[in-house]
Parts: sequence; structure tokens; C-alpha cells
Amino acid sequence: MNKRLLVVQKFGGSSVANPERIKRVAQRVVETERAGHHVVVVVSALGDTTDDLLTLAGQISQTPAERELDMLMATGEQVSVALLAMAIHELGEDAVSFTGAQVGILTDNRHGKARIVNINTRRIVRELDKGRIVIVAGFQGQNLNQDITTLGRGGSDLTAVALAVALKADVCDIFTDVEGVYTCDPRIVPNARKLNRLSYDEMLEMASLGAQVVQARSIFVAKRFGIPVHVRSSFTPREGTMITQAAKAMEDIVVSGVSLRKDEAKVTIRDVPDKPGMAAEIFRELADKDVNVDMIIQNVSREGATDVSFTVGKSDLPATLRVARHAAHRIGAGDVTTDEQVAKLSIVGIGMRSHSGVAARMFEAMAKERVNIEMISTSEIKISCIVRRQHAERAARALHRAFDLGKKRKGA
Ligand code: ADP
Ligand code: ASP
Ligand code: MG
Repeated sequence: MNKRLLVVQKFGGSSVANPERIKRVAQRVVETERAGHHVVVVVSALGDTTDDLLTLAGQISQTPAERELDMLMATGEQVSVALLAMAIHELGEDAVSFTGAQVGILTDNRHGKARIVNINTRRIVRELDKGRIVIVAGFQGQNLNQDITTLGRGGSDLTAVALAVALKADVCDIFTDVEGVYTCDPRIVPNARKLNRLSYDEMLEMASLGAQVVQARSIFVAKRFGIPVHVRSSFTPREGTMITQAAKAMEDIVVSGVSLRKDEAKVTIRDVPDKPGMAAEIFRELADKDVNVDMIIQNVSREGATDVSFTVGKSDLPATLRVARHAAHRIGAGDVTTDEQVAKLSIVGIGMRSHSGVAARMFEAMAKERVNIEMISTSEIKISCIVRRQHAERAARALHRAFDLGKKRKGA
């Protein structure tokens, strides 16, 4: 390859939701190419296609085979790459579209949440050398059996970052329907403020805690390989949010954002015998089934037994219940109950590392709103609370106010 810059651009579902928008994306890609750069484009499925495909599968089976579900889900992105290639041809430029498998994205076997093992970039490099714009279907790869896999919801972001790593790209732009990463989801907090810069660690927490604007796993990979990620609007040319290692100016800011996750469920195992090894039994079985357990609390023991509660992502709930009931039976515990009316509300900021009193301020703000806290967990740079789902958005707005996130501050 010659010395032109190599740019990876990812466009999300809303950016390619209809033919007009696809034409606009094509225009943007072509402008980048005409500025003298090599361009690799990653696209998501049109609009709500992935959700619609899931609904469709649900009308056929409540327990579709994972392999077939991936086969179905991956079709969405195949539609967008082909249409975008056609739109670029209409503008007189050369472009070629590919599935994940065609460009050598090799994953493990975890259907629905596959991890990328390797990318063989030969084909992409060859096409770029021919002067073509390369368009890759996001969210998908194939395993060693040549079965199609998908990378988890929001996985096109991961495709983009992983391609940027493999191709040693100069820039990785994530184009979406907001102007960048905000202090809170602007749909929940209308006066949320766009952050100009954010550290990988903060973005990772915000994304894991519910800010769907970029997929958490993509930021994990970006951090590991030091790829700066620019989250920006596909509708305006303005700069968005640069996500890199910690920038100095941010350290004065205690809390950078508020995140909300509504797709959590709380599971309680009653009357777990209060003796060594019980928690190990339960959580080992869940880990072996690839269930990601989030917060855990164990109540005070009474008469030799205790209740253990934990949260999981809702999509993991059926598997969790099967395993938890099995484990409960085996260790002589009582009933397993679930509560799906919960949400997780979090504040995130690397400044928490060096400031005290942040938790107190958070809890006071929630008390003032009369929102009850059911579970709490903390790490160096975040505090999360489980609350009733019906109060979660109101509580998010209260926290946003309590930490003055809506106001303009220097250095953010
Ligand atoms: P795409 O289709 O481009 O991948 P997504 O729908 O996955 O877009 O992500 C963009 C959406 O993320 C925004 O419309 C916004 O409502 C939501 N969002 C949640 N939290 C945040 C946040 N902290 N900053 C910006 N957007 C956020
Ligand atoms: N289309 C997939 C999804 O909706 C992947 C993505 O949009 O990033 O999750
Ligand atoms: Mg997304």
C-alpha cells in the first residue's frame, strides 16, 4: 500500500435507515476517498432490521438454534453493504462489498456473542491497492467450521475497531445519530452535554453500564491496542468525542456521565445454606454457562440460611434461571425468584479516584427524589445502584443535576 492515510468509517443503523440516508453516507465516504485517503467502511443493518429479524425468529420459535439465529441476524448487514456499494458506484467511484467471512474475520464458536480471534487482511489490502473503497458488513464473522457468527448487539463497532487494529488504520470514526458521547443519553436528559474528550476507561464503564452509543467490547479492544476512536454525527461535519487514554484536563472532573441500563433482571436464591463453598457452587455453574453476573449481594444470615441476589442481562435470564434452579436444588437452597422491574443507574468518572464524598452526594440526590436503592456496587471510577425501573429516568435526571453535568465546564 502507498502512503495515503487509511481511514476506517463505521455507520450505524440509523445512518443507513433509508435510501436517502444511504446516499448521504455514500457521499461522505466518497469525499473522504477524494481527499486522498484509503477508506474501509463498516455498516450496520438498516434501521431496526436486527430487532425485526429477532422478532421474526421469535414468531417461529421461542428457542431458536443459535447457529440459525446468527445465520438470520447476519443477513441485515449484507443488505446494507450491497446498497452502499451501489450508491458509491452511482457517484462514479469504485467500491466493493464483503461479508465478514469474505474478509477473513475469524471468530470463536460463541454464537450471538462471538469473539474475534483473527483477521486475515489480505483481501482488503488487495482491494485497497486497486484503488477501491472496501465496504464490510459489521457485526459478523465466521468460526473455524465456516459457520456464520455474530459479535453481540452493537457489534459493528467492534468490527470497525478490530479492522482498524488489523489494518493499522490512522483513524477510526464511528458515525451515529448523535453528535458524540454525552453526559447522559440525550433521549433521557434533554440538556445532556456532548463531551469533547473521554478516556477509554470512562467510555468502557459508560458503555458497559448502558450508554449504547458505542459497544463496550469495541472500546476494550481500542484501549488494548491504543486506537483512538472518534464518535461523531453522520449528519453534520462537526467534531464529535475523541476517546483516547486519559487526557490531563479531565482529571479535575469528578463525574463525567450518568448511565442507565434497563435490560437487567434481579435473581434471588432463597435460603442458601450459610456455609463455605455455596457461592462458589452457584457462580461457577453460571460462569461455565457463559452467564455474565453483575451485582451480587448476600443478606444477613438467619437460622443458618441466607438469601443471595444478583443481576444479569435480561437476555441471559432464561439460561440463568435454569442454572440457578439446578444449583439451588443441588446445594439444598430454596426457591429461585426473579424481578424484571429493575434498572441500573450509574455515575462514571476517573476523577472519583481522587475525590471523596461522591457516593454520599449520589445517594443524597436519590433520597431527595425518594428513589429507593436496592443494591449498590462500586469500582474505582463508577458507582452503580439498582432501583425500580419506573423511577430510573427521573433519578438519572436528578443525578445529572446533582453533579452539574448540564453546565459547560472547562476542559471537557
Ligand atoms: P448506531 O445505530 O449508530 O449504532 P445506537 O442507537 O447504537 O446508534 O447508539 C446511538 C444512541 O445511543 C443515541 O441515539 C442515544 O440515544 C444513545 N445513547 C445512550 N447513551 C448515550 C450517551 N451517553 N451519549 C450519546 N448517546 C447515547
Ligand atoms: N445490527 C447490529 C445490532 O443492531 C449490529 C450493530 O448495529 O452494531 O446490534
Ligand atoms: Mg450501535
